[in-house]
Amino acid sequence: MPIASDYHMHTPLCQHATGPVEAYVEHAIELGLTEIGFACHNPLPNGRGARERMREEELEFYVRTITELQFRYRGKIEVLLGLEMDYVPALTDYLRVQTTRYPWDYIIGSVHYLDADCTLLAWSRALPFDAEEQYTRYYRLVAELARSGLADFIAHLDVPKRSGRWPGPHGLAELQCALDAVRQADVALEVNTSGYRHRELPEPQPYPALPVVEEALRRGIKLVANSDAHQPEQVGLNFSGIETALRQRGCRELARFYQRKREMQPL
Ligand code: ZN
Ligand code: FE
Ligand code: FE
Ligand code: ZN
Repeated sequence: MPIASDYHMHTPLCQHATGPVEAYVEHAIELGLTEIGFACHNPLPNGRGARERMREEELEFYVRTITELQFRYRGKIEVLLGLEMDYVPALTDYLRVQTTRYPWDYIIGSVHYLDADCTLLAWSRALPFDAEEQYTRYYRLVAELARSGLADFIAHLDVPKRSGRWPGPHGLAELQCALDAVRQADVALEVNTSGYRHRELPEPQPYPALPVVEEALRRGIKLVANSDAHQPEQVGLNFSGIETALRQRGCRELARFYQRKREMQPL
């Protein structure tokens, strides 16, 4: 079966995605997807990362908007309610409340920031430390996120490569530890196709890169393919290409989510 779902789509509420939510749904229907989910960037307290996420007061509206879409498109396509949650170690109590307070179908766990104040983006080209520390900090946070139990799957695993810097031996070892933690916590892993539109990468590739996908499969980690669409036309981006790549690597099933439960569907 071709990839039937896309669980990582944004809305203009995060201030860096464009297009009405209906246009995302319509594009998904055109592509023949049977299930989609919105997962916009979660609010954080005290103005952290405020320019790239919805505000606390908008969360209610977000939930209502997606729930209304669910009803409006009933019978045409399944619309799920998700959230892309930034993992910030100091905020786990806050995040635990946020992730249990609404009827989420799934929580995407992301590490976007390498510091407690959420000012150092993981893929920034201007970090105050070298690539080894960048990747080490990043993968340690990913491992912590996996162990926290807050998320159903981990987003764009090797996203620091967007900085144009590459890990050395320490960073690569931390990646292995992160994969171990993901496996041990039985959290699923996203194969994110937004790397096929990010021009700053040396060549089009998913997050994580295909060799890392292979390692995840070898460990028995469950996968889910997503586009991370920030515009309607990005929904389902390169799904046929990634389907072929996954099949070639022996992947025969992908994860589905509903009311925070996971099940596997054949690929
Ligand atoms: Zn975004
Ligand atoms: Fe993200
Ligand atoms: Fe996203
Ligand atoms: Zn994302």
